[in-house]
Amino acid sequence: MVRPSPSAFFLRALTAVAVAAFLIALCGCRGGGHLLSRDEEVRLGQEAGDDFEREHGRDTNRRRNDMLAAIGKRVEKVAKPPEYPYDFRVLADDTVNAVAFPGGRIYVYRGLFETLKYDEDQIAWVVAHETAHVARRHATRRIEKQLGYELIVQLIFGRDTAGQVAGLVSALVLQDYGRDNEFEADRIGLDYAHAAGYDPTAALAVLSKFSELQGKDPSDLELLFMTHPGNTDRSDAVKAHLSQNNWRGRHYSP
Ligand SMILES: [Zn+2]
Repeated sequence: MVRPSPSAFFLRALTAVAVAAFLIALCGCRGGGHLLSRDEEVRLGQEAGDDFEREHGRDTNRRRNDMLAAIGKRVEKVAKPPEYPYDFRVLADDTVNAVAFPGGRIYVYRGLFETLKYDEDQIAWVVAHETAHVARRHATRRIEKQLGYELIVQLIFGRDTAGQVAGLVSALVLQDYGRDNEFEADRIGLDYAHAAGYDPTAALAVLSKFSELQGKDPSDLELLFMTHPGNTDRSDAVKAHLSQNNWRGRHYSP
């Protein structure tokens, strides 16, 4: 599939929001309130993830898949509890990004491996950041609030034959989680990366790479920068957390 241009993406996101508003009005859904059970949350992420994957395609490259499987295994171990059936997959998309669906389905885009030059510590922190979004239910809470229980149930129980609800969930997962959630995922991501035996200071290399690329080829970074707050602030917060824990490594020594 051809990667959507930023304007096409915005248009799709906008359409998704409009459809959501229409559907909510149509079925009289509550705007939130109901909390999904763990099983429902997992099912929701799987259904929406499958739909998202059908659209983008899954990357079959052995090197990337093996690397992600190895990182995922180590990060997953330290991220529990809460218990989620984590499922890390490589998306056949050259955009530099990663996304977390509710319940443990996480996609790392092919473009991220290339941009970070297959540096395991750097990729591990991105994976840990996304894992933190799952563990803290960031996407789930937003989806519950925006779509309401009844609409989500259509997707979980297979009544979403046109895939509209699945598309809405994907659009919400790709949107900005908000500053607080992103900073929290950065911080918990450092904890996970460190506990899993990776160099947590690699986070700074990732953020500086993002800043460097931001000026160069914005088209490749449309999602990444839409979904995350300013990089300087993030680097400062990362440094503060590293210093607080007295964690040193290849990219920083407090
Ligand atoms: Zn994030």
